[in-house]
Amino acid sequence: MTQSPTCRSCGAALTLTLVDLGLSPLANSYVPPARADRPDPVYPLHARVCQACWLVQVDDVVPEAEIFNSNYAYFSSFSDSWLAHCRAFASKMTRDLALGPDDLVIEIASNDGYLLQYFAQGGIPVLGIEPSGNTAAEAEKKGVPTLVEFFSESLARRLRADGRRPDLICSANVLAHVPDINDFVRGVAVLLTGDAVYTVEFPHLLNLIRQVQFDTIYHEHYSYLSLLAVEKIFATAGLRVFNVEELPTHGGSLRVHACLSAASRVERPGVAKVRADEAAAMLDRAEGYQGFTARCEALRDGLLIFLRQAKSDGKSVAAYGAAAKGNTLLNYCGIGTDLIGFCVDRNPVKQDTLLPGSHIPVHDVDALRRNRPDYLLILPWNIAAEVAEQMDDLSESGTRFVTAVPEIRVWP
Ligand SMILES: [Zn+2]
Repeated sequence: MTQSPTCRSCGAALTLTLVDLGLSPLANSYVPPARADRPDPVYPLHARVCQACWLVQVDDVVPEAEIFNSNYAYFSSFSDSWLAHCRAFASKMTRDLALGPDDLVIEIASNDGYLLQYFAQGGIPVLGIEPSGNTAAEAEKKGVPTLVEFFSESLARRLRADGRRPDLICSANVLAHVPDINDFVRGVAVLLTGDAVYTVEFPHLLNLIRQVQFDTIYHEHYSYLSLLAVEKIFATAGLRVFNVEELPTHGGSLRVHACLSAASRVERPGVAKVRADEAAAMLDRAEGYQGFTARCEALRDGLLIFLRQAKSDGKSVAAYGAAAKGNTLLNYCGIGTDLIGFCVDRNPVKQDTLLPGSHIPVHDVDALRRNRPDYLLILPWNIAAEVAEQMDDLSESGTRFVTAVPEIRVWP
């Protein structure tokens, strides 16, 4: 008998399933055409719920080196709406914390400097921490000094010994991607002093469940976070949440503001509001998680019925956006080139590859003009409105847009 896995944060046995998505390839391992005939390595993709601390997590089954060696292709600066969101955040925090030339802003997982560039442009000293060398090099070009390292408690201790005292530490969409979440949060606590602030953004588990966003589950995304689980992990490390903002990014995210437990910051009303929403959705009970699998199956069946009908009507279907979430969706539904002819993506690194698992070819966006499809399935549904606007000329020629989550929607 195999032992049931244990919680990456509190060590309790994990006996409750959110959804088991079966065997799946790594979502960001785009396949070179020369390897088209070979099967991709697959790993179990099973999201479970810890009933002791309520951290939702996927089994840690892929060696970390393999994930990091996978064809890393993500540059934050490719999305216009994301950059606008970052610029607004930088000016708000500069104002709220009265940041100036004597202060320091650190970002963990600073990618290509997409966020810190806005603080640097305002004359505020910044330091990026980013393990991927090619993206860090892009950051340096934007005037963002960057340490090429993984963040950890031991790195935090070295920075503190060097006299680094950040007034603000930011991180967006990294907390869910670290295997050792406790070590990461302890590192943040080591770097904070006085009333200094840590802000962290993550897709809100409450929306994942409500909107059937199972396609945001993939191997590199280890944890699926509620405020409930985050407050427990933070408290253990000596941190306290004093503000929460609800954001529209990634289908509904939280931005949590934390400080040292002993800091003088007063708790803002946003915290109680989100705590109450999560309690109403029963995220502190097994009932809040049961029934999710059936909703995923219903979504899958609806998408397959739509695609098979399109095929029997002689209509062509292409996909937009070679994103990780698209790969989870396509592989869980068992969709291949029989139902979707090709995919397009703005990122040149992904073009002329095949999507992992489904082996649907990825082309440049202009392929849609050379070979106009009857339907365009927009895989990153969180930016569907932006994509449809860019593809205005296609819809004028008769292409209709489709999103699959939380259910099939076709327009115009
Ligand atoms: Zn736990």
